Amino acid sequence: MLTCKDFLREMSEYLDDSVDPRLRAELELHVSQCPNCFVVVDTTKRTLQVYKGMQAQEVPAGVKSRLMAAIEKKMAARRARGCNPATDQSSTGQAPR
Ligand SMILES: [Zn+2]
Repeated sequence: MLTCKDFLREMSEYLDDSVDPRLRAELELHVSQCPNCFVVVDTTKRTLQVYKGMQAQEVPAGVKSRLMAAIEKKMAARRARGCNPATDQSSTGQAPR
């Protein structure tokens, strides 16, 4: 049975996928049984994803729709002020999205 110290020592290999499959199984077993190490791995994984710009974390549906609503509200406010994004784009020469 691995200790937390063992786990933390091997963790970078584990996250790198360069770890021996047998050791990997032991590390996974430890994470599944040790809340402390689980949190460490989870946090480190997220941090790595942000750094590497890997697949963006899934945005919860509620957050996404609130964000879209906020953007639409902003766009509507812009239009209401007579600041039409379409004319902005043609004047700056940027391709419309
Ligand atoms: Zn542990």
